[in-house]
Amino acid sequence: MLGDMTTASQQTLKNPIGCRGVGLHSGRKVTMTLLPAAPETGIVFRRTDAGAEIRASWVNTIESPRCTVLSNGEGITIGTVEHLMAALAGAEIDNVTVELDGPEVPIMDGSSAPFLFLIECAGVVEQDVARRAVKVLKPVRVVEDGATAALLPDHGFSMNLEIDFANPLIARQDICVVFDAATFKSELSRARTFGLLDEVDRLRAAGLGLGGSLDNVVMVSGDHVLNAGGLRYADEFVRHKLLDAFGDLYLAGGPIIGRFHGVRSGHAHTRHLLAALFADPEAWCYTSLGRATDLGALDRQDAMRLSGA
Ligand SMILES: [Zn+2]
Repeated sequence: MLGDMTTASQQTLKNPIGCRGVGLHSGRKVTMTLLPAAPETGIVFRRTDAGAEIRASWVNTIESPRCTVLSNGEGITIGTVEHLMAALAGAEIDNVTVELDGPEVPIMDGSSAPFLFLIECAGVVEQDVARRAVKVLKPVRVVEDGATAALLPDHGFSMNLEIDFANPLIARQDICVVFDAATFKSELSRARTFGLLDEVDRLRAAGLGLGGSLDNVVMVSGDHVLNAGGLRYADEFVRHKLLDAFGDLYLAGGPIIGRFHGVRSGHAHTRHLLAALFADPEAWCYTSLGRATDLGALDRQDAMRLSGA
């Protein structure tokens, strides 16, 4: 997604567009509207039912067991943002306001494809300001609970991920993806959320997965899939986990130039990885993907403020 094949200008939507669906964990019906936004706005979520706005940044995330949750620090949260964030990252949308009338982004079919379709239907326009990427300058690593997540310096953006489940169908899968403009749509966007049938009762008892069904979750029981259509990719599980990490990484505030490496990592590890990256001023810098003059005017303090770091 970086280099010759990417846009050098910030982008937003040409027209507003919306959809309605159910929240995976809350089980609540929610209407979502994506609205065009001015350059340098970033991705901003707006809870119309609660009168709150929360910027999509790693600094606004909170600990949550199953999905990525943004919080305004005053009790207003927005859950399950990762699949929408992945679609926005894949479509290279820098500026958009996401209106919701409930506490969770609708799960749709469990993948990013419906969101990508919405973005394509709305249309994408370039804005007259250079895109800003976060360039990784030295390796940063988080090792927790037998999982590893790392960012390493590289010329473009690539990701590799390994998963290892104590389930005979999922088991051990790995994937390596080098991103260009078409990669996300073809290789990752259709990969759905999955769950193990054994875990459903425990999840529901914890008040999670209340909106889950075979329409939005790949349900695995032993060595087979319960969904009538089977899998969309032979290795859909690891592709979905990569989609999650891709969406979570967009909470950096822009595209990343570097290589992501994950082993059994999940939302919390990606989140802690971004915190570790931004905690070390020598580990990253901003770089303009367009005309250098736009960023030349920014000093480091401005840059830190814009990133929320
Ligand atoms: Zn997911």
